[in-house]
Amino acid sequence: ALALIDVTRTFSEGDRELHILRGADFAIQPGEMVALVAPSGTGKSTLLHLAGLLEHPDEGDVFVGGVNCAELDDDARTAIRRHDVGFVYQFHHLLPEFTALENIMMPQMIAGLGKAEAAERAQSLLDYMRMGERSGHRPSELSGGEQQRVAVARAVANAPSVLLLDEPTGNLDPKTAHYVFEALKALVQASGVATLFATHNMELAAQMDRCVTLRDGQVIQITL
Ligand code: ATP
Ligand code: MG
Repeated sequence: ALALIDVTRTFSEGDRELHILRGADFAIQPGEMVALVAPSGTGKSTLLHLAGLLEHPDEGDVFVGGVNCAELDDDARTAIRRHDVGFVYQFHHLLPEFTALENIMMPQMIAGLGKAEAAERAQSLLDYMRMGERSGHRPSELSGGEQQRVAVARAVANAPSVLLLDEPTGNLDPKTAHYVFEALKALVQASGVATLFATHNMELAAQMDRCVTLRDGQVIQITL
């Protein structure tokens, strides 16, 4: 599960202060898939980066799997980020010189798993994404939708308790976006991971468990 308690984040821009998050409170239960729909520049990526322990809030607490990460030192926070958080970036960020299989093995091996076990799990995740035949391809040899499926498989490789996706289907055609979404939805249901999915695609958002937006630096629930 994921919980943000009274989280504040302010950026300085020249002599102006941008209060992007002002005491945001928000939680996602295990197995729940929540859509984050908000206009450009309102703080979606900021929220995802804080939730994913990639950045620190100015104030407030971030709980990942019941652990208050605000109270941890950098090493402990990094360990939680590696084991308990999966992140899919808007532009996939796969390692270009490695194959699809190796890209999914990487986080598992960093987490201490042996090569054979990591390869076996990577292959089964690729099979699950109906990408089994393409495990030996490098990112440049895969289509955009295939690359995104590898990125999703990589994000869940360590069986995280929290999965964060920053507009992962933004640059895909509607049919491919739908396909990637269906594969992801099945994974969320099977694994019980708490999932926050930022998207501008209302059709996808409507198919998630619930939908939130950002207003005046707060996370509020909306119905589509
Ligand atoms: P988009 O839909 O375009 O991706 P977003 O909702 O993800 O937008 P954020 O990236 O969270 O928006 O940015 C929110 C605001 O905070 C923007 O005005 C942005 O310029 C500003 N901002 C984000 N990161 C920083 C930073 N490191 N330093 C200064 N300002 C920042
Ligand atoms: Mg963004």
